Amino acid sequence: MLQEIVQEIHTAQATLVAVSKTKPISAILEVYETGMRDFGENKVQELLTKYPDCPSDIRWHLIGHLQTNKVKQIVGKVVLIHSVDSLYLLEEIEKQSAKIQIVTDCLLQFHISDETTKFGFDKDSFQDIFKSIQQSNFKHLRICGVMGMATFTEDQNQIRQEFKTLRQIFETAKKEFYADDSHFKEVSMGMSDDYKIALEEGSTMVRVGSLLFGKRQ
Ligand SMILES: *Cc1c(COP(=O)(O)O)cnc(C)c1O
Repeated sequence: MLQEIVQEIHTAQATLVAVSKTKPISAILEVYETGMRDFGENKVQELLTKYPDCPSDIRWHLIGHLQTNKVKQIVGKVVLIHSVDSLYLLEEIEKQSAKIQIVTDCLLQFHISDETTKFGFDKDSFQDIFKSIQQSNFKHLRICGVMGMATFTEDQNQIRQEFKTLRQIFETAKKEFYADDSHFKEVSMGMSDDYKIALEEGSTMVRVGSLLFGKRQ
């Protein structure tokens, strides 16, 4: 199962982030042994608990909502924050990264689903958001692309449309704001139930949990 998914995602030239939330370190190590190095957690506290007891060459991704007061604890520990959803949060990431003299890679999360429970910037104002970020001229963070979560639905067509919307935001932003910036290249979309559609719609990073680790409680 694992090897098949890895192969499929590799063929699509996308990165697989193994989402290990709620799973014990023993489960992480099992997947690590197969060669996986990119792991994702959605909660800062859980990531911090696992971090010291896991191999140091694991590339940790923060994929869940990040509160401003927790930024300080995770900068320097994660290779990518997928879930930036406010300018205020970006300012804090800039500030905390500057303090320890690093550059933190970030994705902007857009709200592409029809569920109010999901986080993210308003997709209709994406141009204003990118404009503001460009004016801020951050030196200690890099915007590497966009992230989004589709609606939890059986309607494959709706999921596909939402992924198309995210890919379109990426394409437009690339052209208008990041044409000369090779770091702006990621479209993080697709989970266990919809990663195939996501890959077809131009995902460069899929975040897969239950399909690799088994169902969560
Ligand atoms: C849990 C989670 C995933 C993975 O979900 P699965 O359905 O288990 O693959 C992906 N992205 C985010 C943001 C998550 O919280």
